[in-house]
Amino acid sequence: MTTESPARAQRPDRYDPSGFERRWRDRWEADELDRARDDDPRPKRYILTMYPYPSGDLHIGHWYAATGPDIVARLHRMRGENVMFPMGFDSFGLPAENAAIDRNIHPQIWTDANIEKMRAQFRTMGAMFDWSREVVTSDPAYYRWTQWIFLQFYNAGLAYRAMAPVDWCPKDQVVLAREQVEGPERRCWRCHTPVEKRDLEQWWFRITNYSDELLNFEGIDYPEPIRLMQTNWIGRSEGAEIDFTTEADDVEPIRVFTTRPDTVFGATFMVLAPEHPLVAILTTDDRRAEVEAYVASARRQTEIDRMSTEREKTGVFIGAHAINPMTNERIPIWIADYVLPGYGTGAIMAVPAHDERDYEFAQTFDLPIRYVVAPPSGELPADAALVGHTADEVLIDSGDFTGMKAAEAIAAITDALSEAGHGQFAVTYRQRDWLVSRQRYWGAPIPIVYCDEHGAQPVPEDQLPVVLPQDVDFAPTGVSPLQSHAEWLATTCPACDGPARRETDTLDTFIDSSWYFLRYCSPTDTQRAWDPGDVATWMPMHLYTGGAEHGVMHLLYYRFFVKALRDLGHLAFDEPTLKLRNQGQILGADHNRMSKSRGNVQAPDELVERYGSDTVRAFLMFIGPWDQGGSWNPSGIDGIHRWLSRAWGAATATGGSTGGTPAPHVAGMPEQSLAGEIPGTGGPRADEVLGTVEELTRALRRAAHVAIGEVTDDIEGMHFNTAISRLMELTNALVRARETGLAGTAAYAEAADTLILLMAPFTPHIAEELWERRGHDYSVHTQAWPIADPSLTATETIELPVQVDGKLRDRLVVTPDTPADEIERLALASEHVQRYLEGQAPARVIQIPGRLVNVVTRR
Ligand SMILES: [Zn+2]
Ligand SMILES: [Zn+2]
Repeated sequence: MTTESPARAQRPDRYDPSGFERRWRDRWEADELDRARDDDPRPKRYILTMYPYPSGDLHIGHWYAATGPDIVARLHRMRGENVMFPMGFDSFGLPAENAAIDRNIHPQIWTDANIEKMRAQFRTMGAMFDWSREVVTSDPAYYRWTQWIFLQFYNAGLAYRAMAPVDWCPKDQVVLAREQVEGPERRCWRCHTPVEKRDLEQWWFRITNYSDELLNFEGIDYPEPIRLMQTNWIGRSEGAEIDFTTEADDVEPIRVFTTRPDTVFGATFMVLAPEHPLVAILTTDDRRAEVEAYVASARRQTEIDRMSTEREKTGVFIGAHAINPMTNERIPIWIADYVLPGYGTGAIMAVPAHDERDYEFAQTFDLPIRYVVAPPSGELPADAALVGHTADEVLIDSGDFTGMKAAEAIAAITDALSEAGHGQFAVTYRQRDWLVSRQRYWGAPIPIVYCDEHGAQPVPEDQLPVVLPQDVDFAPTGVSPLQSHAEWLATTCPACDGPARRETDTLDTFIDSSWYFLRYCSPTDTQRAWDPGDVATWMPMHLYTGGAEHGVMHLLYYRFFVKALRDLGHLAFDEPTLKLRNQGQILGADHNRMSKSRGNVQAPDELVERYGSDTVRAFLMFIGPWDQGGSWNPSGIDGIHRWLSRAWGAATATGGSTGGTPAPHVAGMPEQSLAGEIPGTGGPRADEVLGTVEELTRALRRAAHVAIGEVTDDIEGMHFNTAISRLMELTNALVRARETGLAGTAAYAEAADTLILLMAPFTPHIAEELWERRGHDYSVHTQAWPIADPSLTATETIELPVQVDGKLRDRLVVTPDTPADEIERLALASEHVQRYLEGQAPARVIQIPGRLVNVVTRR
């Protein structure tokens, strides 16, 4: 179906996007213009923007996020590449479930309705999304393969079940991954409620197997803040594991991890976490009552309270001693709640002279403090720990190591401990395994069944998907809603065919988004999660864009998935994307994050209705650097609309020097109200313009070719705002050329066509319409991207005759704006001039700007 254009004469000559935007979108869709073809031999390019949650309405932030990569995708398509730019919906998860609970409708119905609505809204953007590849993660055809990946991980030991203290959001009634607990106050990433600790049996993914590889960003182009966030999150530190033996019989030594093995001679006591398994064994009978009371009270404290440096230190001596492996001294063993069971080994060697918390603890309980590292001056603090770790510090009071530089002593003492069998070099990580099970309804069921005899058994692959039942009471109670569905729960054991019951937790939705980019490569494959040939064709992505707030969640998880699937033989590359870019965030007009509850959400629909899609796209890209975002302020949108009107007038001019299309003025909006500056609106009157027709023609061609180079570079660098400034400049050059009578010339046609081609990625509808109006073949989006002619863009130069005492001796080639003192320097530096100066300074240098230089030697 292609839409027949109405007769040209009947069309309004004014820029009226409502007259053609929808028509062109319908035609692009009917013609499947935006489809990426697996078998197209042209160079492939895979560009992706993060898919949204189907939360209801598309807001202006979605447009902002998607327009940038759409522009890049369109540039590459016009360069003759086979570009894939797909879109889908991250449709499982709590937003859908919570909204459904609030409205008392089924999450499926709510989600489907929202997707339908958002698809329609996305379409009005005119973005080149290939909708034939859409993925919807709550579709059984998709989550069947999410479950399949879980089974691959399970079979390889990368998915496992374990009891552990986990973070629990009391509001959302669900556990959270560590990455989903934010800030020092430890709040839920979604609802900001402080989380609690619970001991629960949960499913985990062994992401820590990949900690080291995830620290390696070689060969991929990630923004520095993301690399830093991930590096800090993984938190690799090098040091030593040291074993302290105790006096108890048949008890394993207490293992500690320290980054400062050089301070081991200063370890004057040990502290165990109250939860440490050796506490009960080592505690002496006379201390037991007090120790047990302390352990019980520590368990009631929150982790945040326990880590607070403000709090007075508390602790209890357990009656036992350990042996310092370097000094062979007996040192007392204490328990204290500032040592946490989940960090390191849950035990520390306390070096009060060189650690602030240990110092405070030693002060409180009158324990010995021994300095073992000192600055070269030997000066030690009077009543504090020495914690500075400068390069020139040396060991003191440290046996054979006294006098050694601390930096060298780290390795030397580790070696000595290792030789004596008391320790070894070790690396620890802050990162923990990824907690992936959730006690909520709206997610992919975990494909595991439990048999009394055979325990946990994976669901056979040919029985996937384990379909999420529809008729479930999904109100949150803290236990998985699926537990209430007796019929669904009952199944058979794959090992013995006996009765078994299904796992009732569902998977974290971040698992869905850890592989959706693979599914886009072969979205309809019913036999496999992806077709290996198609994935080899498209992956890794060339460009992935999205918000930086996903830095240690999605953007870490999807890298882990690719590496794990590679190691399981399913992928042949190491990273999901070669390049990552983060757009900034569009905040509400009140500078807060847009949210329905604040009432500061800007919907794009009303703007599109009033100005058309192209104006909204260009405005969003013009408000500032794309990676910065900013607060919503629509005051400049009229300026953008006027620019497009001027471009319309310039591109449809047919000859003569008529004034062209007057820009529509929107009542109540001041002229020039744009946040940024529109360069040089309002060209000169014809009688003000100087220059010959040849000069004007050359200037116009130069403007067009300079714009080609600059807009191309700006799109590649994702500097969309400056690209639009260049397009405005070229528009102005055309308006001036029209006013001086150049419309209808070949140079004018070239510049007008160039403007349309360069606008096409930014404002695809008006570009298509103008392309047709200028008599070219459909579609502007399949035209070759223009290439700048370097002979036209070279900087203009002039030739200046250089005289010595009135006689021509040389010529300088300079740009017209070269300053006079620079011209004098160049003239005097000329060897032809120097020959006549004979080593003397000239009497004077006379310049007639733009005409000549005369060096006068006679005084
Ligand atoms: Zn929460
Ligand atoms: Zn069984």
